[in-house]
Amino acid sequence: MDTPAQTKRFLDAVLFREIWKAMKVTFKHMLHRPMTFQYPREKRTIPDAHRGALGLLRYDNGQERCVGCDLCEVACPSRCIKVISEEDKSLPLQRYASEFYIDITKCVFCGYCVEACPVNALAMTKMYEYSTHDKRTLLFDKERLYDIGEQHLEDAKKYLYAHNQEDDDEESRAYRYHFPQPIGKTEAPDS
Ligand code: SF4
Ligand code: SF4
Repeated sequence: MDTPAQTKRFLDAVLFREIWKAMKVTFKHMLHRPMTFQYPREKRTIPDAHRGALGLLRYDNGQERCVGCDLCEVACPSRCIKVISEEDKSLPLQRYASEFYIDITKCVFCGYCVEACPVNALAMTKMYEYSTHDKRTLLFDKERLYDIGEQHLEDAKKYLYAHNQEDDDEESRAYRYHFPQPIGKTEAPDS
């Protein structure tokens, strides 16, 4: 029996309606500016808060900021950070990370490790081009993390400012450049 639905299907087929619909969409988009970036020749402007590869940072005098406290390792939901710390023999009671690894293949770029760090030793950068055929090279060690931090220092600072973790004012700079404080004797209170 001939139903309205069958008639419609017949007319759609005879008049090539689906093809005309598709052509309408094609012609409409021919008048629009293309939105596709011709990567890698063209690159997007990356915002300061972008969560790219992690890097380790140093103080201006070259001293490593990381004190090997493990807080980033504890905060990491992916369990992809491994810190091995040792006591710094030249500075009593101070520690440093003798080894530091981030398995970037497991990282979900949540930024929790950066937030957990008490000395802003970790920051995220705008670096995202590190695809490789050898997955083993994506286990970033301490040397590579400091290299990333050095090469992308300005972006790392912008990340920290954007996430309001390190203000660019006098008080924050004092904290940033003098932490950890040297350990000295405290005056005994008057009895
Ligand atoms: S960004 Fe998140 S997942 Fe990646 S290392 Fe830091 S805490 Fe772990
Ligand atoms: S990066 Fe920061 S949180 Fe992680 S071990 Fe070093 S000082 Fe601690």
